[in-house]
Amino acid sequence: MPRLKSYLVDSSEGDISVDLLFSLDQQRIRTVTGSAEGRVQMACQRCLEPVEVTVQASFNLAIAPSEEVAKTLPRYYDPLVVEEEDVELWSVVEEELILNLPVVPYHDDCSIQTSFGEAAPEDEKAQKPNPFSVLAQLKAKTDKS
Ligand SMILES: [Zn+2]
Repeated sequence: MPRLKSYLVDSSEGDISVDLLFSLDQQRIRTVTGSAEGRVQMACQRCLEPVEVTVQASFNLAIAPSEEVAKTLPRYYDPLVVEEEDVELWSVVEEELILNLPVVPYHDDCSIQTSFGEAAPEDEKAQKPNPFSVLAQLKAKTDKS
């Protein structure tokens, strides 16, 4: 999830769990429902040190093969237009999580002490494993249906 990662300070501390259910509703519409939630580290907008924030997103999607079909879906679903075989679901999840990140994260008990020179070096961060790789498994799941 490179885009989500770009919002985080120390992505090695992140932990996102995704719980999605793929099913057919009574009208034979393919749906994806569920939620994603977890804890990630963002930069405190007061002191710029990492602050842990919880992020949560819920999904009530109906899969449509085209924009035209998407327009015919019941309003209570969010249409997800999938024109290719692969459902780019993790990018949908990622998008939703990004939308749900706090715009201005900060420590509840932030003491504004500017300590220069303590920020972690960029190259060190880049070498840490991506905790969101688990989401790649979603792709395998969607291929089954
Ligand atoms: Zn702070």
